Formats: sequence, C-alpha cells, structure tokens
Amino acid sequence: MEATEAAQTGHAAKYTRNNPYMSAVQQNYRLTAEGSEKETRHVALELEAGMQYTPGDAVGILAENRETEVELVLKALGFSGDERVLDHYKVEISLEEAVRTRLAIGKLTRSTINQYAKLVDPANPIMQLKAMTGPEGKALAEEHCWGREFIDLLHEFPGVLKEPQKLFTVLQRLTPRMYSIASSQMMHPNSVETTVRVIRYDAHGRGRQGLASGHMGERSPVGSTLPIFLHANGNFRLPEDTSKPIIMIGPGTGLAPFRSFLEERQAKGETGKNWLFFGDQRSKLDYLYQEQLEGMHKDGVLTHLDTAFSRDQQTKVYVQDRMQEKAAELFKWLEDGAYFYVCGDATRMAKDVETALLDVIAKGSNGTLEHAAEYLETMKKQKRYQRDVY
Ligand SMILES: Cc1cc2nc3c(=O)[nH]c(=O)nc-3n(C[C@H](O)[C@H](O)[C@H](O)COP(=O)(O)OP(=O)(O)OC[C@H]3O[C@@H](n4cnc5c(N)ncnc54)[C@H](O)[C@@H]3O)c2cc1C
Repeated sequence: MEATEAAQTGHAAKYTRNNPYMSAVQQNYRLTAEGSEKETRHVALELEAGMQYTPGDAVGILAENRETEVELVLKALGFSGDERVLDHYKVEISLEEAVRTRLAIGKLTRSTINQYAKLVDPANPIMQLKAMTGPEGKALAEEHCWGREFIDLLHEFPGVLKEPQKLFTVLQRLTPRMYSIASSQMMHPNSVETTVRVIRYDAHGRGRQGLASGHMGERSPVGSTLPIFLHANGNFRLPEDTSKPIIMIGPGTGLAPFRSFLEERQAKGETGKNWLFFGDQRSKLDYLYQEQLEGMHKDGVLTHLDTAFSRDQQTKVYVQDRMQEKAAELFKWLEDGAYFYVCGDATRMAKDVETALLDVIAKGSNGTLEHAAEYLETMKKQKRYQRDVY
C-alpha cells in the first residue's frame, strides 16, 4: 500500500507514528458471537478536533508487549528491568520500558537468530544455533521461527546475551499495526472505528497472542488509551464521480473499509449504486455488522447484498462463488463503469477473487481469458480495480 501519513486536508499530519495521539477507547465489543472460531471486535477510538480521515484510509496502532511476556523475557535474561539503556533515539529509559514499548519480542525472525548467534563466545560455539545462521542456515532458521517468539530462543539457548543494550541489536523495533478504517467521519466526527480480528493460537506448548490485536482484544477497555495515528491511502478511494456504481468484495475483516464507504455514501446521499459481497464461516456467528448492513439493504443504500458463509452448508461457498453465480449482472455493472474493490486476505482470497473476476469478464464479453486480462488492465488504468489486501 502506497500511502503517506499526511492528513487529507493537505497539511502535514500533526500526529505520526513517531508522535502518536493518545486516543481514548470509546467502544470495544465483540462482533462475532460466542462459539465462533474467530474473535472479531469493533473498536472505536476518539479523535482530537482537526484529525481527519477519508474512507479507504487506515489507522496505525502502537501497541505494547504484554507485561507477562516482558517479565518472562527479563527473567530469562537474568535482568531486573531497572537497568538503563538508550532507545533508538538515544533517550535513556529503563530496560523494562524498552522491552515493553520499543522492542519486538513477538514472532521470532531470522535476523534475531543471526544477531543472537553473533553474541556467542567463539571459544564455546553453540552448533545448533550456528547451523541456523547465514545463507546456508536460511531454511533451517525459517522453519525454527515458525510459531516461536524471542522467549523461546532465550529458553533454548540461554546465557548468550549479557549486556542489556545488546537487545537493541538483536531485536527489531516494535512497529505499529495498521487497521482499515471502518467508519465515515461524516457519521462519526470525533472517532475512528475499526474491525479487529484478535489473533490467538497455541504453538510449541504456549498460548500466543498477536501484539496489537491482542492488545485491543484484552487490554483496551473503554476509557483506556491507545497511541494512534491516521494513515492516508490514496490508492483506495471511492470514485470522484459519486454517481458511479461500486462493487465491494470484503470477506472477514475485509468488510471494514466498505462499511466506511457505505456510511460515507449514505451520509452524503450519493446516488451511485452499491453492491457488497461479504463472507465468513457461519451466518449465525460471524455475520459482522449484520443489522446495519441489512438495514442499508432495506433502505436502498445497498443495492445488492450477497453473502457467502462457507460452513453453513456441506459444500463450502466463498465470495468468489457468489460472484460467479451473479456473473451476468456483475459484468453489466462493469460495463456501466462500476469500480471494483477488494479488501482482506492477500494469501488466497485476493487471488481467487481476481480469477473469478477474469472469468466473469470473459463470460460476459464472450471473450477469452486473454481479452479479460486486457479488460482488467484497462480497469486498473482507470483506477476502477482497487485492492487493499494484507
Ligand atoms: C493496510 C492494512 C489494513 C489492515 N486492516 C485490518 C483490519 O481491518 N482488521 C484486522 O484485523 N487486521 C487488519 N490488518 C492486519 C493488521 O495490521 C495486523 O497485521 C494483524 O492484526 C496482526 O497483528 P498483531 O500485532 O495482532 O499480530 P502479530 O504480533 O503481528 O502476529 C501475527 C503473526 O502471528 C503469527 N501467527 C498468527 N496465527 C498463527 C498461527 N495460528 N500459528 C502460528 N503463527 C501464527 C503469524 O506469523 C502472523 O504474522 C491490516 C493490515 C494492513 C497492512
């Protein structure tokens, strides 16, 4: 995603990743029902007057590592946490603060393994660690990193890191996580809303949590604060011509920016037709913003609302299958100049949706897949095919 952190007003944003705004959590509730395999939450964050966003933008969240994880790391290293260190800007802070707020102690990386291995006394090499370093050790290191965190490395190869400051060489910087904005500022002038899937899993005998989603899922009650900044994304925008139809493919949390698009078009009374494809596992448990979406459909804001709940029936059905079912009308919308948007999972969904789209175009135009690819190229040039996938 190409984006700048400048607010949409054209002047430089006051708050950035290096100077975040301390935003109060206004709402934080579960959208998926009890029993769902996923925990997806609606998190609304307060904005200071003057902070502006446009539908399609994201909000950056700077989360902290869990205190229990910080304690485990300090204990495994044999430090109290009161030691003084210099952060990335050479500001002196306590080691505890550094591990909690500056350093990525989550997902283990090859770079950490390489840097950690360099600290081993050459007189007493650790062969198992050495085998994972350099280009020859790449495959082994990657396999080792899977599902592991820094703490696992410390437990497996203890006593290597002896100087607190060295942690800044071994570990990457804690980076913000992006969340698509799910609200329109026309409807929520003082807040930014997000749709967050909380990542939790067990690996190598321990319960793990995503840094930012875990933070919002467990440690961000209403009234608490979170450091945030707005992140503009000029490549994911509603059509300038408000009469143009839009087609939105947003399964799972991919729905978020489309809630923002729809709220915006509703608030402004824009005339362009809107078609949403939403999907998830089960309609009873995973239908995010069901009431609002069905209300929009009833009121005509949403011309079409198509859902695909993969586990509601024996044969799995996905958004791309619904697209195929509606191929003729979809193609008609494209011929009428519709803008086509995709948001959500980059690994599989985005590719499957593109394949389905090419098929829809080929069928509709009685053309070949080659012709469909050219048609899609033209749509891209006209900015009528926009994706925000992660
Ligand atoms: C432009 C953009 C928009 C986004 N919008 C949204 C949004 O609207 N909603 C949303 O929820 N997310 C969104 N994301 C994703 C979000 O930024 C985070 O990447 C996501 O929430 C995970 O971050 P985390 O800090 O919770 O987890 P991290 O601490 O980053 O951990 C995630 C990592 O954990 C590992 N992992 C996860 N599950 C397992 C498992 N089962 N087994 C082993 N390892 C595993 C993987 O390596 C994964 O990369 C967006 C991303 C981008 C770039």
